[in-house]
Amino acid sequence: LFAGPVTFLKGVTALEALPPPDRTEICFAGRSNVGKSSLINALTGRKGLARASGTPGRTQEINYFALGDRHYLVDLPGYGFAEAPKAVVERWQRLLRAYLAGRPSLRRAFVLIDARHGIKPVDAEILALLDRSAVAFQTVLTKADKIGPAARERVLEQVREALQRHPAACPELVVTSSERGEGIATLRAIIAHLD
Ligand code: GDP
Repeated sequence: LFAGPVTFLKGVTALEALPPPDRTEICFAGRSNVGKSSLINALTGRKGLARASGTPGRTQEINYFALGDRHYLVDLPGYGFAEAPKAVVERWQRLLRAYLAGRPSLRRAFVLIDARHGIKPVDAEILALLDRSAVAFQTVLTKADKIGPAARERVLEQVREALQRHPAACPELVVTSSERGEGIATLRAIIAHLD
């Protein structure tokens, strides 16, 4: 799946602009700066494909990438910018809720969690939204190279414990480092099997 072409399709800011739900779709969500762009670039092997969120409120688009000719990879806007204006946050929440509620082809959401920080309240809100929308989600720890083995065990424990309260959660966690390439092949395989 990842050996074929990956191309940017479009940035969507309104529901009407979503492509028809005729391909298997997976999406990536996470706090700003969690390492989402780096992970998408590592997964697809294309540097610069997904751009870093940069300034608050700038990347409010749902970015669609075509993965081969039967899948869409969807990059959701980063959330949790403390300094983002209230109106921006509300607009993003409305779009996200509508997207998650009305996307029958969405097979799985990958929620990125910084391995150093674990699940924060703002992440928990997204997980609860995924539960309510009945969108199966899988948690991906990012930047695992930044922590040692003991901290890794602690965060895995915290996340596993938290996931028990989320009916839409897949029990399997994926630990990744875009920097070192850890977990990338695993994640590719998981996505490739989501037909
Ligand atoms: P985004 O805002 O979620 O798209 O985050 P980015 O992918 O732009 O990453 C935010 C920052 O974290 C950048 O400075 C990246 O270089 C850094 N980063 C991302 N992934 C990793 C990783 O796996 N390991 C380390 N050490 N740094 C990372």
